Amino acid sequence: MTVNIQTVLDDINQDVRNQFDTFEGKVADYIPALSRMPADRFAMAVYGVDGTFCHTGDAHQRFTIQSVSKVLTLTLALQRYGDSLWDRVGKEPSGTAFNSLTQLEFEGGKPRNPFINAGAIVTCDALYSRLSAPTHHMLETLRSLSNNPRLTINAIVARSEFEHRHRNAAMAHLMKSFGNFENDVEDVLRAYFSFCAIEMCTTELARAFSYLANKGEAVADGQHVLSSKQNSQLNSLLFTSGLYDASGDFAYRVGMPGKSGVGGAILAVVPGRFTVAVWSPKLNRYGNSSAGIYALEQFADRLNLHLF
Ligand code: GLN
Repeated sequence: MTVNIQTVLDDINQDVRNQFDTFEGKVADYIPALSRMPADRFAMAVYGVDGTFCHTGDAHQRFTIQSVSKVLTLTLALQRYGDSLWDRVGKEPSGTAFNSLTQLEFEGGKPRNPFINAGAIVTCDALYSRLSAPTHHMLETLRSLSNNPRLTINAIVARSEFEHRHRNAAMAHLMKSFGNFENDVEDVLRAYFSFCAIEMCTTELARAFSYLANKGEAVADGQHVLSSKQNSQLNSLLFTSGLYDASGDFAYRVGMPGKSGVGGAILAVVPGRFTVAVWSPKLNRYGNSSAGIYALEQFADRLNLHLF
């Protein structure tokens, strides 16, 4: 099994590098500190529920995880609130951009799902009410799950995001005006941006989120992260909403639950088999890594992993 997957990953790496220029889009620049990342980078890592571990390309290159952090934010909130979290955030695909404000006003300040910015920010607010040091807790959890006690937050990116926070701040204030926000907006945004600015590489990402493929338990040490039922539910939401208004296209092409981030990472799950992390910073118009989606599609095709 290991040999096969490694060969497939190395083929994909070569294939992607041969056609870097053809991928749609550009590196995110609405957060100025992100725009410094070169576009021609690619990495992919696979972590199996049997402990299989393979990687290819720039697999140890660090990047900020951005919206992939929303998976852990939701995980930590579900641990504390269970289903009552859904009073504050929905479970439906949004069909709008990750940072859109329009729907939020029409729908009374309740975001469509926890993976668009408004949904993640309100989930972060919920966490903020239950944790004395949410950023510390988030970082420590990722350190433990990825087995790297040295993970850090990129302070330059976090600051850059805070300085350019206006759209995210508008969402938070709008939710507050509807009574769906408990804490100080700026405090919660600082925590949210810190979560987004945690730096990881693909090998750490694949390992940290292994519980998603393993009924809620971390593969390496059996750590119980979510109940099996909650884990299934989280995967369902990733499948329907993890790539914003391009979730349908991702489901069609790749056929796996997934979560993208504007740093260029995508985390995908093959339930019962493995987690796959891919990274390439050039983003398409939906804010998802173009080469990343292509690579995952190739991976799904070559190993027949499409869920349906
Ligand atoms: N930190 C980013 C933001 O709030 C996260 C967005 C993303 O990765 N899609 O805009």
